[in-house]
Amino acid sequence: MTTTRFAPSPTGYIHIGNLRTALFNYLIARKAGGQFILRIDDTDPERSKEEYVDAIKQDLDWLGLHWDRVERQSERLDRYEAAAEKLREMGRFYEAFETPTELDLKRKKQLNMGKPPVYDRAALNLSEDEKAALRSERGQGVWRFKLDHERIEWTDGILGDISIDAASVSDPVLIRQDGQMLYTLASVVDDTEMGVTHVVRGSDHVTNTATQIQIIKALGGTPPVFAHHSLLTGPQGEALSKRLGTLALRDLRESGVEPMAVLSLMARLGSSDPVELRTEMAELIDGFDLSRFGSAPTKFDAEDLYPLTARYLQTLDYTSVKDEIAALGVPDALAERFWTVTRENITTKSDLKGWWEMFRDGAEPVIDAEDAEFVAEAMALLPEGPFDGDTWGTWTGAVKQATGRKGRGLFMPLRKALTGMERGPDMSDVMPLLQVVKARG
Ligand code: GLU
Repeated sequence: MTTTRFAPSPTGYIHIGNLRTALFNYLIARKAGGQFILRIDDTDPERSKEEYVDAIKQDLDWLGLHWDRVERQSERLDRYEAAAEKLREMGRFYEAFETPTELDLKRKKQLNMGKPPVYDRAALNLSEDEKAALRSERGQGVWRFKLDHERIEWTDGILGDISIDAASVSDPVLIRQDGQMLYTLASVVDDTEMGVTHVVRGSDHVTNTATQIQIIKALGGTPPVFAHHSLLTGPQGEALSKRLGTLALRDLRESGVEPMAVLSLMARLGSSDPVELRTEMAELIDGFDLSRFGSAPTKFDAEDLYPLTARYLQTLDYTSVKDEIAALGVPDALAERFWTVTRENITTKSDLKGWWEMFRDGAEPVIDAEDAEFVAEAMALLPEGPFDGDTWGTWTGAVKQATGRKGRGLFMPLRKALTGMERGPDMSDVMPLLQVVKARG
């Protein structure tokens, strides 16, 4: 069975880049009728926070990316310890004692000599006595996985055939000096034991993938199918990380962006398929094809979410927004009309409040000096409210007769006098909603 996972570290809020990872994994699982696991990568007890675990769940819920089960790495430390023991027994795991400063120095030397900065495996030559001496002097060492120096190859779901020379990669540290299990080990143990078949993640993980393939094989597992999506940049190609603060999903949510707008954009951005608004998750699942995505960095502009949000809102019928409209205080008798009239004229739902206030309290009239007399004459002909769907037609007919004005010269000053705006919904639809006409004087 196809099984995917989204594996955030609960050290912050989900941002638009993580969402892409979550969405791709979700869509692959759903398209195949498989399982989607939410895995909380919380092996770092200092940086992981429960509030972020809750926030991640809320954000995924808001988007409708429902998971089949939750796994937490902090509850599986014994599994990682067992895997570490297995690697030790196989002679694929060794303790190293270099301090960060020493490692840094080694790297600089290598770079100066024009060599790649790969860990030199000096620790492999330590005798038991030397290790004991270092341990008593410096405490526990870190544990590194001994890579086999051969080419590591896989067919990537997005990048195609990949071949990485293991000798160009440092033996990865899997356990920190303080005993903390690191993500690389935890992740391969989980992916193997949880039967994960497909892993999609950002292209910043390509080197990790190479080492993970070797670790999985060493532990007797079968590597999943890997795919690495490109990273997002800002609209000008600038690194997104600089602006992450504003691109947390919760900030987008608060700005009124609709989930289907976010999902529609992110399921297509960076692929050769056009971005199209989808109103149902099922359509997104059906139309998703990982092989259509390219490896080039993908430009993301949060502004693109607003036209999609506006178009999405236009597709909603009254019943799906009934409660929100009632909450604005729109009387039942006007509520459905209020929605059908305004939905074409809003970008986000937060615009509804302003429309309702305008209808309820009347707009500040905008009357150009040359129209003042005309508007005054028209107002005298305006019947008492409440208005209905015929009011506009009957009234402007009478005003035309009385003043001889017609077309734009007739309608525009009246629209501006009644709504304070040059544009907006059809005035025949506006009139029945209008409770007060300030321009009556
Ligand atoms: N916790 C890791 C991250 O957020 C997961 C990467 C992966 O998908 O394996 O980068």
